[in-house]
Amino acid sequence: MESENYVYKKEIDWSTLMEGFTLPLDNQVIFLRNMENFLQRGQSKIIHFFMNGKTYDAKIVNMNNSVEKRKKDAYQIRYPRNGELSQALQQYFFKSMSYIKMIRENRDPKDRSYIKMPDGLKEYLAIYTTEYEDTFLLEPIAQDDFQVMKKAIQGMRERTVENEIEYEMEDKSSGIEKKLQIVKIRKLNRKIGENLKLLYGYRCQICGQVIGEKYGSHIAEAHHIDYFVNSLNNDANNQMIVCPNHHSVIHDANPVFDRRRMVYRFDNGVEERISLNKHLFIYVK
Ligand SMILES: [Zn+2]
Ligand SMILES: [Zn+2]
Repeated sequence: MESENYVYKKEIDWSTLMEGFTLPLDNQVIFLRNMENFLQRGQSKIIHFFMNGKTYDAKIVNMNNSVEKRKKDAYQIRYPRNGELSQALQQYFFKSMSYIKMIRENRDPKDRSYIKMPDGLKEYLAIYTTEYEDTFLLEPIAQDDFQVMKKAIQGMRERTVENEIEYEMEDKSSGIEKKLQIVKIRKLNRKIGENLKLLYGYRCQICGQVIGEKYGSHIAEAHHIDYFVNSLNNDANNQMIVCPNHHSVIHDANPVFDRRRMVYRFDNGVEERISLNKHLFIYVK
């Protein structure tokens, strides 16, 4: 469906399982374009979520009451505690649910600090727009989905996997259930990449060029900084938009990415700085 656009990949946490979450919109080009007149500041609306064949009602609130123009809008999604949606989420993400519950039960009851899922246990909710402005598609991505994906790409080269994501080649060998789970993760991967391409106007984050502009085309590719075959990480913060030449060079020479300085360091001593950056942030593990 062409009208399906990536909105956000929400990491599952206690609040998401219980009553709602915030949508950070900094990089959401298409979503903001669609939402421009949908929700004024301070307003709220009833929206519908479509998930695994069922529809759920929720509320979306534009939290920004400030008249200050420069401040970014912040949207919050809310649904009733123990309502149908939260129950469905708790069921699907029972691994996150039981992990967080266990931590909560074993800590000081006064401790209200945020419980972060460990790296290997993270689960996600992918949110997409649909052709109806008040209806969104939710796609739960649980640990099992990642296991299936991991098996499917085992032994494959990173460049092959990235090409498949980019150019949507499908694997005809696996069964239907498996295929659906693989398609889910591939789709999310590609949508995040597409959104980033729009954010950069198809410019390479290294050389700043748009390839094919002269011919009325624009070719940019999404590269995974930590290789997807190893990390299964398709977060925007692990993707970078590059031209096909820089993409090929990166995979051929395997430079090290220095996130602190935002440079690629090549074995021969050459350093290539990220010249355009609107979405990568420095993080320390
Ligand atoms: Zn380039
Ligand atoms: Zn790549």
